[in-house]
Amino acid sequence: MLNSLHFRKLTCFEILDGYVQVTEKDEFVYHDMISHPAMAVNPNIKSVLIIGGGDGGTAREISRYSGIEKIDMVEIDEAVVRVCKKYLPTLSSAYDSEPRLNLRFQDGLKFVKDAPAGAYDLILVDSTDPAGPGEGLFTVGFYQDCFRILSENGILINQHEGAFYDGDIEEMKKAHAKIKKTFPIAKVYGFNIPTYASGYWYFGFASKKLDPIADLKPEQWEKLGLKTKYYNIDLHKGAFALPNYVKEILASVEA
Ligand code: SAM
Repeated sequence: MLNSLHFRKLTCFEILDGYVQVTEKDEFVYHDMISHPAMAVNPNIKSVLIIGGGDGGTAREISRYSGIEKIDMVEIDEAVVRVCKKYLPTLSSAYDSEPRLNLRFQDGLKFVKDAPAGAYDLILVDSTDPAGPGEGLFTVGFYQDCFRILSENGILINQHEGAFYDGDIEEMKKAHAKIKKTFPIAKVYGFNIPTYASGYWYFGFASKKLDPIADLKPEQWEKLGLKTKYYNIDLHKGAFALPNYVKEILASVEA
């Protein structure tokens, strides 16, 4: 359990509903891993939808790709953005500097229900855990709407919780079961982030036809010359190479 000494060392952090969402100390890990893997599989992504992500870190990382033409962001809580602009300027830098960013305050669940088919090449679900306002973002209905509004080469990156503590394992299994029902390709990758429970957390990589390893484009991504603090192509391959106990957890989820 993090104590006050640890908190002081984390510099600035954000807590929502009693849960630490992000800290300045290790946010680079989370925001690298939610943003770059999909861009290394499909460097031609033009339209991106961010759901949640109020601290701004995901918008900041995705804004680094000059080939992207549109970044729509749907955050349910305007106060999160306002507070992060004031206290987390290193994360929220894109809000005032990125002309491609269209920020709206709305429930992501409703937004995807009303969005047109095939509108996005990439959806990044940077949400809270599956409780409260975030709960709806872990439903079959939400994943089906995401499938409908993604283009043919579309990719969805979503929260896949943790594989160490029982409560997180149950949420991981529930999320994976629902996403496997909706997407032909539903993979999981992990990353080391000390702030989150057990220090190791997971994202889901779901798509209609692109595989995160077989369709990886290392040369194209490296030619972009993005300097990243956590992500690189070797780590990408390793992140999808899961430990056996995690493979067993995911395999236990019947489609
Ligand atoms: N990295 C953090 C984590 O893993 O817990 C998440 C960061 S971000 C702060 C989560 C954001 O999702 C919050 O700003 C929250 O307001 C937003 N959010 C939660 N439910 C939402 C919904 N249904 N629609 C849009 N945004 C939502």
